[in-house]
Amino acid sequence: MASHIVGYPRMGPKRELKFALESFWDGKSSAEDLQKVAADLRASIWKQMANAGIKYIPSNTFSYYDQVLDATATLGAVPQRYGWTGGEIGFDTYFSMARGNATVPAMEMTKWFDTNYHFIVPELGPDVNFTYSSHKAVDEYKEAKALGVDTVPVLVGPVTYLLLSKPAKGVEKTFNLLSLLPKVLAVYKEVIADLKAAGASWIQFDEPTLVLDLESHKLQAFTDAYAELAPALSGLNVLIETYFADVPAAAYKTLTSLNGVTAYGFDLVRGTKTLDLIKGGFPSGKYLFAGVVDGRNIWANDLASSLATLQGLEGIVGKDNLVVSTSSSLLHTAVDLVNETKLDDEIKSWLAFAAQKIVEVNALAKALSGNKDEAFFSANAAAQASRKSSPRVTNEAVQKAAAALKGSDHRRATNVSARLDAQQKKLNLPILPTTTIGSFPQTVELRRVRREFKANKISEEEYVKSIKEEIHKVVQLQEELDIDVLVHGEPERNDMVEYFGEQLSGFAFTVNGWVQSYGSRCVKPPIIYGDVSRPKPMTVFWSSVAQSFTKRPMKGMLTGPVTILNWSFVRNDQPRSETTYQIALAIKDEVEDLEKAGITVIQIDEAALREGLPLRKSEQADYLDWAVHSFRITNVGVQDTTQIHTHMCYSNFNDIIHSIINMDADVITIENSRSDEKLLSVFREGVKYGAGIGPGVYDIHSPRIPPTEEIADRINKMLAVLEKNILWVNPDCGLKTRKYTEVKPALTNMVAAAKLIRNEL
Ligand code: GLN
Ligand code: ZN
Repeated sequence: MASHIVGYPRMGPKRELKFALESFWDGKSSAEDLQKVAADLRASIWKQMANAGIKYIPSNTFSYYDQVLDATATLGAVPQRYGWTGGEIGFDTYFSMARGNATVPAMEMTKWFDTNYHFIVPELGPDVNFTYSSHKAVDEYKEAKALGVDTVPVLVGPVTYLLLSKPAKGVEKTFNLLSLLPKVLAVYKEVIADLKAAGASWIQFDEPTLVLDLESHKLQAFTDAYAELAPALSGLNVLIETYFADVPAAAYKTLTSLNGVTAYGFDLVRGTKTLDLIKGGFPSGKYLFAGVVDGRNIWANDLASSLATLQGLEGIVGKDNLVVSTSSSLLHTAVDLVNETKLDDEIKSWLAFAAQKIVEVNALAKALSGNKDEAFFSANAAAQASRKSSPRVTNEAVQKAAAALKGSDHRRATNVSARLDAQQKKLNLPILPTTTIGSFPQTVELRRVRREFKANKISEEEYVKSIKEEIHKVVQLQEELDIDVLVHGEPERNDMVEYFGEQLSGFAFTVNGWVQSYGSRCVKPPIIYGDVSRPKPMTVFWSSVAQSFTKRPMKGMLTGPVTILNWSFVRNDQPRSETTYQIALAIKDEVEDLEKAGITVIQIDEAALREGLPLRKSEQADYLDWAVHSFRITNVGVQDTTQIHTHMCYSNFNDIIHSIINMDADVITIENSRSDEKLLSVFREGVKYGAGIGPGVYDIHSPRIPPTEEIADRINKMLAVLEKNILWVNPDCGLKTRKYTEVKPALTNMVAAAKLIRNEL
């Protein structure tokens, strides 16, 4: 019985790759230094899987930035503005596409399905000249082989690649991306030939778009693509891997009829309905890669239950054709529980990170083949039982309060236009008010202060003094810049979810449970293991301190319940909606305490509401219903004069605009600058609604400083669509990852642009 891993985290158990990348980008180390760190990480991952007994070990799941960008490099699909002139794509061109450079902005980045991972969106036009320009896949295959590990090279599938692309500038409306399929396949054939020549016997194509509700011509593209590739693939075992949801029936039919394909991978954690399809018919002689170990969460697998599922499948596909696998790449979970020194043993016994999941996969494979490790299985069963019965998990009062929310409506009594009038009387803001999204640069010094306080190396008094000074500095800077609605800068926060989780009950924290978000950026999601409640106020002290430094309005800054949920590792023992309602009640108490403390503008970030949207259309309405309801619960109790902002980092919400309006916030700030103003038409809906809208006027993901004229131009474009009395001027997200040398000139230009246009209006 064989075992397989879809993909593995790249950052390293202690974020080694992050630090190597950032040091290279800062010019503090060489390309060779970076390559060495990367090679060591790859080697240790391959060896770890080989030692655990995994049969199908992936390669080319490593990336210096993003696997979709790697595919773009392989295909030589570099947009012209990066000045690449051919040849093997090096770090210069690669990182310019990813991050922009002094003269050219980065390519667009967007969320990878419903995860918090971001990929670089390929930009393709009719004249793109695909050439095989990165040999990374074959190089990694050979590298592993030299270490004695025969791997399964993983490629982003050609159809998924095209379906995730966007048409280049100028041809947005007219261009059919799938028309590029023949040209793309020509390069794939070269890659396949290379891999074959290097000795590969398996190849994995990741085609996760198969879990979406695809129109039939898109499904047809899969049929065409693999028929075209079949001769090139002959002699290889070909695995098509899907993940993140169940595969719709039509896609299942297409998939299992593909030419030249020998194996199919399914997510059987999020895609339990696929099980029924498999039971309904599975092509004989083909392999089923059964993803029973969750790639997106940190809970130990319920081995007995997985074993039963697998045994059922064995009866359908045959013993020799069943391969135990992960539900998705392990990229979306934490790396290694071994490095968790602060979790207590009870909670630890409930968990499995990527390194432990490899062992689980192998244990299941062994058990299926009659070599069950009884001790391992009974320890697992004991842990499952302890989690079910632990008093740390249940809080009756919270359960009751959350249950009472269901079915009822919660909505502020006055409509948004009337509320905005009441707020304006109190706030007296100029037209096109300027603000920022919350965080200011997190300096080395700041991180040191927080770290030392946490480690009890400095006293609470010293800590409070330092943070107060920082807030004071940030407030002064904003006054100098003449920003209208200020923020305190979030210097006391490590992370917008962790900060709240640490103060709520029902949460546990890791020290190294990092998950890649984009590029070198990682997040460390808290673990929600029990019922959530708020023992005491969480932000009132710092917001009051900040407000005391200025006469201008100071925004209270909270993270919304849906974002806390979506950016945490959540319980899998109750519905997500239940957990969210519990968090909403805790945030509601905080909003009301801020209002009592005299904070008149409160921002409740729902940065992750969109990404939690289920991939399958049939499940979306229900999610949006409880998600939006949870948001409204947080602020249903405030006065009309209290202005509720929300912020969302999305680039596409055309499909959920009505839900966003239904959140009933007074002001909505959103990401816009990386998505070519395509959102603007959507904002027209916002005009009807009447709330304030702040589409980001510049991209904070890039170090580039936007000139005043460029920002003014953006504002003018927005004004062409939006009424002037509802438009806000702000960056598209928080500034914590930027440096002051970037933030000061950028905000100076932003305020200058706003004033320029105010004078013209
Ligand atoms: N208030 C947060 C910040 O500015 C929002 C971050 C986000 O949307 N991701 O950092
Ligand atoms: Zn944001």
